[in-house]
Amino acid sequence: MDVRADVVVVGAGVIGLSTALRAQRAGARVAVVTAVPPQLTTSAVAAAVWYPTRVEAGGEVADWGAATYAELVRQAADGVPGVALRPTRMMAHQDTPGRPWWAEAVPDLRPLERAELAPGCVSGWAFTAPTVEMPLYLAWMLDRFRRRGGRLVTRRLDSLAQVAGAAPVVVNASGLGARRLCGDGALYPVRGQLVLVRNPGLRTSLRIQDDPAGYTYVHPRSRDVVLGGTFDEGSWDTAADPETARAIIARCTALAPRLRDAEVVGHLVGLRPVRRGGVRLERDEATLPGSALVHNYGHGGAGVTLSWGCADAAVELIG
Ligand SMILES: Cc1cc2nc3c(=O)[nH]c(=O)nc-3n(C[C@H](O)[C@H](O)[C@H](O)COP(=O)(O)OP(=O)(O)OC[C@H]3O[C@@H](n4cnc5c(N)ncnc54)[C@H](O)[C@@H]3O)c2cc1C
Repeated sequence: MDVRADVVVVGAGVIGLSTALRAQRAGARVAVVTAVPPQLTTSAVAAAVWYPTRVEAGGEVADWGAATYAELVRQAADGVPGVALRPTRMMAHQDTPGRPWWAEAVPDLRPLERAELAPGCVSGWAFTAPTVEMPLYLAWMLDRFRRRGGRLVTRRLDSLAQVAGAAPVVVNASGLGARRLCGDGALYPVRGQLVLVRNPGLRTSLRIQDDPAGYTYVHPRSRDVVLGGTFDEGSWDTAADPETARAIIARCTALAPRLRDAEVVGHLVGLRPVRRGGVRLERDEATLPGSALVHNYGHGGAGVTLSWGCADAAVELIG
């Protein structure tokens, strides 16, 4: 491959680009190799609200989430495109005793008052969540990467060995692609379907964790509102299902009645890279001849939430 760099990152989703930017900040010349442009990745589909969804709890994950929360707060203050802090209400039909495991990341977490709960819910939390409009954000990341001299190569790899030799270190940020690229059978898709509607003036993100009718969330953005969702274990189907879309709209309208008659402006489907055993973030000297490999994949439903914390940890592993 016609690339010479200090670090080659495979993947141009939120994990690959955040790692590339951190490696550049540490002084490395970085190239990114990707099968598809950033706007066509799973990352571009994400509702992208800070929240550790479908990822193993505790330990390092809590630290990565806290570091990312702090970074996104900084970026919102700096006016980074697409990043905003929003009031959030997370509710549940079942009582959820004790503070959530990720509570330390969030400075203003408080239990919801009974009057603040949606009908049928008995408990919940209010907090401020960083939210990200991914199409704007990925464009900003790519622009910043290129301005720092980074090179983006669009090429689908059959094997990570194809980039060995292009740099002393290869970062594997290929998301679900790692299933094939490193034969990781612990990685599998959890399909998510979303509906986008024009924003009738909503500001607060709402979420019901355990709605018996299906996972329900309403995430306002600057112009539209993201309505979700589904967690279809093991499904590779990337087509939007009209019946599922109708059910999502009905559940979300019950939660936020101002959505009634909001114009539908889009349908999105993405495959979350969920991994049994959690995120793989480690240095691997054995796999590639001539290059060290740093794996950074398997972020499930929380890739945006963990991105900057994982990028910092990956750069430590790059050495
Ligand atoms: C509906 C939905 C809602 C979500 N909401 C949220 C949310 O609110 N908050 C949150 O934190 N997360 C959310 N997520 C999860 C989040 O989108 C993922 O965790 C995240 O996008 C994973 O990023 P990634 O960079 O690892 O993978 P991806 O974005 O999939 O990027 C993988 C990259 O690897 C490249 N690649 C793969 N195979 C190859 C190959 N063979 N050769 C070359 N390149 C290759 C791809 O081209 C791509 O550039 C959501 C996901 C979905 C589907």
